[in-house]
Amino acid sequence: MDERFRDSIATISEEGKRAWIFPKKPSGPYYNARKWVSYGLLIFLFAAPIIKVNGNQFLMFNVLERRFNIFGFPFWPQDFHLFVISMIIGVIFIALFTVAYGRIFCGWMCPQTIFMEMVFRRIEYWIEGDRGAQMRLAKMPWNAVKIRKRVFKWSIFFLISFLISNIFLAYIISTDKLLMYITDGPAQHLGTLIPLLIFTAVFYFVFAWFREQVCIIACPYGRLQGVLLDNKSIVVAYDHKRGEGSAGRKKFRKNEDRDALGHGDCIDCFQCVHVCPTGIDIRNGTQLECVNCTACIDECDTIMEKIDKPKGLIRYASEENILKKAKFTFSPRLKGYTAVLTILTGVLVGMLFLRNDLEANILRLPGQLYERKEGNIISNVYTYKLINKTNEDIDDVSFKLLSHNGTIEVVTHENFLVPAQNLAEGTLFIEINNAGLDGDKDQLKIGVYSGENLIETTTARFLAPRNYN
Ligand code: SF4
Ligand code: SF4
Repeated sequence: MDERFRDSIATISEEGKRAWIFPKKPSGPYYNARKWVSYGLLIFLFAAPIIKVNGNQFLMFNVLERRFNIFGFPFWPQDFHLFVISMIIGVIFIALFTVAYGRIFCGWMCPQTIFMEMVFRRIEYWIEGDRGAQMRLAKMPWNAVKIRKRVFKWSIFFLISFLISNIFLAYIISTDKLLMYITDGPAQHLGTLIPLLIFTAVFYFVFAWFREQVCIIACPYGRLQGVLLDNKSIVVAYDHKRGEGSAGRKKFRKNEDRDALGHGDCIDCFQCVHVCPTGIDIRNGTQLECVNCTACIDECDTIMEKIDKPKGLIRYASEENILKKAKFTFSPRLKGYTAVLTILTGVLVGMLFLRNDLEANILRLPGQLYERKEGNIISNVYTYKLINKTNEDIDDVSFKLLSHNGTIEVVTHENFLVPAQNLAEGTLFIEINNAGLDGDKDQLKIGVYSGENLIETTTARFLAPRNYN
């Protein structure tokens, strides 16, 4: 096989300059399905910072103030362990998903692909026309038509980039704050306006100029494909057995019996190459540049229909499927990986939903030993910190010893309130008769009550003299 295609990439010319890709406008069932998926994802992206659940923004990642909302649940820095576990699960998920299903995510869900192919590129087709018209326009001198079309396109691109920046800002600082900044007037908040404009410029640069280079050069996930994919992974693949036949591919000629001549079903029409947004020829095999966008599947299926051959010369398949001429089946390996992925997702969702609304920490005051009081009473002093992660105040809060007979005395007040999304902290004494202690370092179980309701339990170590035991 001619491997020369590996020596260069389609987006760099022989002189080392950027070779601009003018992909043909895709059409077909896969493209239509991707459009609907993209509408859903775009609506979600724009709605998630606007929707509120119990007064909380549905999704918010305020890294500056370390406040996060996931599905309307507020998360605190104290929930950092959940974040770390989600990251670990996320990495395992991505690795397993890619081994089994290839780059399906890139083609169907990646924000870069969605914005590039389903927003910016469609606007470009609308203003500049399809591949041929765009190529002609690019070659044209800067006459009135070209200036008008380009200025119009770039202005819309800039406005959309600005909108995307605002949406991302709403995810970070919250929609309420963003609206407040807008009503105050942007000049009052230059510290936010300047980063906003910088991000607008970055988005504009990516979607107006850098484009497919993000997937080919910059995206770390794309770079990992070489180690994650194997010959059983499902990818967008050209069926070279069928396409090449025994005598290779050949241009289509009416009334020619290709089968008798040994030619494969590929008629070398280059439509799959012309439609490819990364400019590659999928017939060379799986390549790092392929984002599995399915545009070439639709295009080749249309050609196959025209020449009266079965569809699927380019299709979702593994290299093994193609070599064995087998159809796609849900193999035990895919079932196994899918089961593991489902379990991981379940664990993560369970962890998010089963998280405590109130976090209680009771720690012995550093450097303090115990105090011996009248009547064989041993006293230890502690600091407590209660974090209310909900949107409602928790009132009438008190502590009770659950594991031992004894008393808990909160300094300054008995029953207190933990404000919504806030914390309460202070000092408390625990007193236990030495006769009720098992050793010199008993583990205490302490209940946190709101009125008569037990809302959380926690533990603390209780020190006592050895000779009391
Ligand atoms: S679109 Fe199909 S027939 Fe045409 S060159 Fe590509 S693989 Fe061959
Ligand atoms: S080879 Fe096909 S699936 Fe891959 S990026 Fe190009 S058009 Fe999309």
